[in-house]
Amino acid sequence: MDKVVALAKRRGFVFPGSEIYGGLKGTWDLGPLGVALNNNIKREWWRYFVENREDMYGLDAAILMNAKVWEASGHTGAGFSDPLVEDVKTGERYRADHLLKDAGVEADGLSLAEIDEIITDKKLLSPNGNPLSPARQFNLMFETTIGATAGPDGKVYLRPETAQGIFVNFKNVMDSMSPKLPFGIAQIGKAFRNEIAPREWLFRVREFEQMEIEYFVKEAEWEGEFEKLRTDIWGWFDHLGLKRDNIKEYDVPENDLAHYSKRTIDFEYNFPGKGFDELAGFAYRTDHDLKGHMTHSGTSLEYIEPDGSRFIPHVLEPSFGVGRAFTALLCEAYTEDEMGGEIRTYLKLPSYLAPYRVAVSPLLKNKPELVAKAREVFAILKKQFGNVAFDDNGNIGKRYRRQDEIGTPYCVVIDFETLGQEKPELKDTVTVRHRDTGEQERIAILELVSYLK
Ligand code: ATP
Repeated sequence: MDKVVALAKRRGFVFPGSEIYGGLKGTWDLGPLGVALNNNIKREWWRYFVENREDMYGLDAAILMNAKVWEASGHTGAGFSDPLVEDVKTGERYRADHLLKDAGVEADGLSLAEIDEIITDKKLLSPNGNPLSPARQFNLMFETTIGATAGPDGKVYLRPETAQGIFVNFKNVMDSMSPKLPFGIAQIGKAFRNEIAPREWLFRVREFEQMEIEYFVKEAEWEGEFEKLRTDIWGWFDHLGLKRDNIKEYDVPENDLAHYSKRTIDFEYNFPGKGFDELAGFAYRTDHDLKGHMTHSGTSLEYIEPDGSRFIPHVLEPSFGVGRAFTALLCEAYTEDEMGGEIRTYLKLPSYLAPYRVAVSPLLKNKPELVAKAREVFAILKKQFGNVAFDDNGNIGKRYRRQDEIGTPYCVVIDFETLGQEKPELKDTVTVRHRDTGEQERIAILELVSYLK
């Protein structure tokens, strides 16, 4: 993991947030290659779950929402809190359940009193070796104030999940699109959680992106639809290029389910140095959310069948964190091998996810005729793919290593043969070098676009 984090910083994927001011815990900034990879993940997700299907509708709701939304959803109460303990000497705060887990205690679903009892019995101390305060609940929502006047009326929250924006727009989507059950509404967007102890790089941060679907079904059909979506979720992980051996399902035990959930599966990824932990969640949320919003808002959120019968649909929720997918993807892609007697590092990313699909180089940078031809080829590919690099730094071997390290699947090299100077039959062909094997092929410029597609 340390190697992945170092590569990500060095090569412009991920930088610590506000770095020149000493950083801001729980925030990370995406650099030029990071934003490219992140956008590719989101675009592929949208294609896979929305555009390639007939039963999905997109949405992009505002981050700031009426505070009543979070009362109706239960987020302002204890339901969206984590147990917090403080180091009584340093004031440093920790998530009590994480400290317990680190000490080998299964901590899910424990009450505050039970946590205190275990801390006392096991004589648990803070990571700095100091005593811990009693546990208390800490709400994870960020509060802010809207408008010029402070006061209870101006209080709003930064959304801690994108899901509620979907429930609140359920009626709008019904009225405007007339979808038939079962159907889903999908959204990608930022979410904010005031995590007590952000840690492990992008894994637990305070500002992150989610890709969520609320899939509306008839109650009697939830189990069949759950199985179908579960298969689709595995298909998505395949599309990301994550090995199935590195992912496992964790069926959340009944005593640990949220009170409204009848079944939840966490999909866990085997993060190097950390082990299996949540990559995405998949929950059957019954009719809890729509019912809650219907009661609190006084607006009917019922589905009306063609025969006029009405009911509140039930909901299946696949929920993915973009940052956790990004992390898993980099860990999965990070590869070291030996090539030409040297250890090399490369990112084995699928071509549709790599920041650059292809890099174009003139064999020598000081030969204007090679550079001009390389620029010509670059322009053709750039117009087609967009994410194409022009790389004429250092010698060709160094360029290959550099492109390997950032996951560029192909390097196209323009040499004297391209110009027809050495072997006339090779005029207007280029060398295409493959990242994973280092193999090289001769391809006609005219065929390059279809070859790289
Ligand atoms: P955890 O148990 O790890 O705190 P959670 O069960 O609270 O996660 P959900 O509320 O199910 O998470 O959120 C859905 C997804 O959003 C998670 O599977 C994860 O990918 C992502 N996510 C949640 N919290 C964070 C965070 N603080 N940082 C990064 N990603 C997050």
